[in-house]
Amino acid sequence: MTLDHKTGCLVCGEELVYEKETEQLECFYCKQIYDSNTKCRNGHYVCDRCHSLPAMELIESFCIASESEDPLELALTLMRNPNIKMHGPEHHFLVPAVLLAAYYNIKQDYKEKATKIRMAKKRAEQILGGFCGFYGNCGAAVGTGIFVSLITDATPLSVAEWKLANLVTAKSLLSIAEHGGPRCCKRTTFLAILEAADFVKEHFGVSFKINKDLKCGFYPLNNECLQQKCPFHP
Ligand SMILES: [Zn+2]
Ligand SMILES: [Zn+2]
Repeated sequence: MTLDHKTGCLVCGEELVYEKETEQLECFYCKQIYDSNTKCRNGHYVCDRCHSLPAMELIESFCIASESEDPLELALTLMRNPNIKMHGPEHHFLVPAVLLAAYYNIKQDYKEKATKIRMAKKRAEQILGGFCGFYGNCGAAVGTGIFVSLITDATPLSVAEWKLANLVTAKSLLSIAEHGGPRCCKRTTFLAILEAADFVKEHFGVSFKINKDLKCGFYPLNNECLQQKCPFHP
């Protein structure tokens, strides 16, 4: 995987090819069709709108349009876009967004998917950057709580739903904490998604199509990478 996206394709980093004639191309992120004469050597086309979207809006648009049932694959695809930084609070929304997308794609409930992803964005915007170190509650773990709260329609007055929403945060936070610091928004996002995948299987009977043998390609961008101590280090 190449990480040099400064001039190339936002999806894969490949060089862009400019044709003389325009053709109808589907945007990789929003799945809308546009006339364009620009795509990368691997065939990716990104529309002008998605090209200039800030991280939060890109995550929202891509997850609503995606048909994937693998939240980890969705996360990795988004993380390769240069607008998603190595570390940053956009991961607090990325976690519930990819989980909701995969969950409702399996349920084939696309209307509910869009509604819940928009609600997740509003909630995740309240989780500040640095929440892990300053509040002792990593935003990726909170993201799994937002996910379960939304699929169960939990409120502060719920009983069983309240338990499940808090339980998934507890489980993912425990996994994140036990791997130790310093913060890495890739490691904690992967751990949170893997914990949430086990959780929905156990409590909701929903199995994500997930590759658990994940190797992280982002470590060269992380000065504080745990290296051999990180379970995802290649
Ligand atoms: Zn590409
Ligand atoms: Zn687009």
